Amino acid sequence: MELEFATRCLYGDKEKFEKESTGAISFPIYQTATYAHPEVGQSTGFDYSRLQNPTREHLEKVVASLEKGIDALAFSSGMAAITALMEIFKPGDHIITEADLYGGSIRLFDNINKKNGVTFSHVNCSKEDISKYINENTKAIYIETPTNPMMNVTDIRKIADIAKEHDLLLIVDNTFLSPYFQNPLELGADVVIHSGTKYLGGHNDTLAGFVVTNSQEISDKLRFIIKTIGSGLAPFDSWLILRGIKTLPIRMEKSQENAKAIVDFLLSEPKVKKVYYPGIPGSDGYEICKKQARGFGAMITFEVESKDLAKHILKHTQIIPFAESLGGVETLLTYPCTQTHADVPEDVRIANGITDCVLRLSAGIEDSKDLIGDLKYAIDSYDGYKALYI
Ligand SMILES: *Cc1c(COP(=O)(O)O)cnc(C)c1O
Repeated sequence: MELEFATRCLYGDKEKFEKESTGAISFPIYQTATYAHPEVGQSTGFDYSRLQNPTREHLEKVVASLEKGIDALAFSSGMAAITALMEIFKPGDHIITEADLYGGSIRLFDNINKKNGVTFSHVNCSKEDISKYINENTKAIYIETPTNPMMNVTDIRKIADIAKEHDLLLIVDNTFLSPYFQNPLELGADVVIHSGTKYLGGHNDTLAGFVVTNSQEISDKLRFIIKTIGSGLAPFDSWLILRGIKTLPIRMEKSQENAKAIVDFLLSEPKVKKVYYPGIPGSDGYEICKKQARGFGAMITFEVESKDLAKHILKHTQIIPFAESLGGVETLLTYPCTQTHADVPEDVRIANGITDCVLRLSAGIEDSKDLIGDLKYAIDSYDGYKALYI
């Protein structure tokens, strides 16, 4: 029996589950480093928690079932997941990546992986023809859609077709929409990445990351890597993410509803120059996002009329914290140019549209009236303060 998404958030793909022997409804936290063996040559299937841990494995099965992969691996953060995945490449390999990616991913590729001999072409995959960047060393395409933070939407199926034609892996960071709204593996991707810190965990209380795949070969390689480099998610954190996932569908619905209300408000504000949200009909990504996803998500990027106004808003919201991260129950405002994308070279950042007038908002699950009131206060109070800035 194929279970529906919301049910899988609680039980995973039930057929694959071993029964927990006590019948505990909340899956236990196996807070153990090691496991006793009955005798030489025999194992319970659990030897050492760097390799196997029941709580982490339970979480991995739930995430695999949400993304329709054959395997998911849970890491100590999103960056740990991406770092482990990059270990499948070797010096000389070339990877095409989306130009507008999470800043930490760009930092990893351009500083660590490049040093180890992997080369990259950063391309605007939503607009440019990526075929012309493919050479004989190209091994993979790495995208986000919508991108962080400019919300560019790329047609996953179209890129998957190009990847198949040239025998390249397609890797999609699906953090922004979560598996509730989008399943890249079903659209032809080979690997899905998640920062589990965001929507999967959902409570701004721990870090986690996932690599999900529908390829046995990649799964085998990654199982070897996780046991060797030791960046797997700890049992307690695995449990927190399991608990977060139980409410993923209702959190995604409420966050998206709030995001839509905030987008309507921002569009009506004269001091807001541009709003980037794929759910705005007629906007660049609208049709593609509608075709390949079940929703538009709850991330909004907007540009205000000046840097001073941007800074003023960040200082004067009373409810919404000015903080990095996204995807939690609390609405957060982020300033990409000094936070998530601070390490991206300025010319690259500006070419991608991330100016010092750009703010990113992750809508949470509060009452939207309070959120809009808070933003309105922060924007309206600017005129009174303006003299102080000049
Ligand atoms: C946050 C984020 C990451 C990194 O995840 P961490 O859990 O913070 O290490 C990767 N990709 C995207 C799109 C993100 O938003």
